[in-house]
Amino acid sequence: MPKEKIILIYVQDFLNNDDRYKEYISEDLNIPLGILYLGTYVNRYGFEVLVLDTRLYKEDNFFKLLYGELVKNPILVGLSVMTPSIKNALKITRFVKSCFKIYTLCGGVHPTLYPDSTMRNENIDFVIVNEGEKPLLSLADYLRGKNEDINSIYNYIRRQVEIITSRGCIHQCAFCINSVINNKYRDEPIEQTLKNIDILINDYKIEHIFFMDEDFFINRSRIRYLLSELKKEKLAGRVTAVQIT
Ligand code: SF4
Repeated sequence: MPKEKIILIYVQDFLNNDDRYKEYISEDLNIPLGILYLGTYVNRYGFEVLVLDTRLYKEDNFFKLLYGELVKNPILVGLSVMTPSIKNALKITRFVKSCFKIYTLCGGVHPTLYPDSTMRNENIDFVIVNEGEKPLLSLADYLRGKNEDINSIYNYIRRQVEIITSRGCIHQCAFCINSVINNKYRDEPIEQTLKNIDILINDYKIEHIFFMDEDFFINRSRIRYLLSELKKEKLAGRVTAVQIT
């Protein structure tokens, strides 16, 4: 049986158009150790791994090469990204998503420092923060159907969306826009909320849902019912709501 393939890309600048290829390699090129450790680790668990380094290719050639690998249907394209290389990383994830339905993952310094803004990009499916070996393996196992518990990797990997299930508020805090505009509380039928959560988790593979309601906890019986239904489906750990005032 063929092994599932993972492409790991060390994202830096592309090779310049002036032909300094050999000189560049011999003098300046550090080995991308982080991504090699990751690749070696998941390879031990049965994944075929291809490591690419953008510094070795002119931009056009890199994308031709990548296209040739994407048609072989890897289960995941992972990018190691530092802040100066985020622009190229986004170019690569956009390219992957424009051509194929393949999952993309970002790890490294930039996503570790800015996981939320990285995750907001529509072409990035997963973010790993901090060290990546175990979360990468958990994710890869999940994608090949060997690990069904995505919660086990939630601390590291997130695909989160925000939703609003009610509007307005019953209180009248003087400083709040809801008081100024008399924004009265109205909530969505709870069955609709549950249906939306089900669609997000099962159809769109969202790992976590954050409630952005003005005041999520006002209608307590509604929240109790919502939580009891989510518990039945073992989904209670996949939602978050915060009460600030
Ligand atoms: S409880 Fe919160 S949302 Fe409601 S009026 Fe006060 S500040 Fe605004």
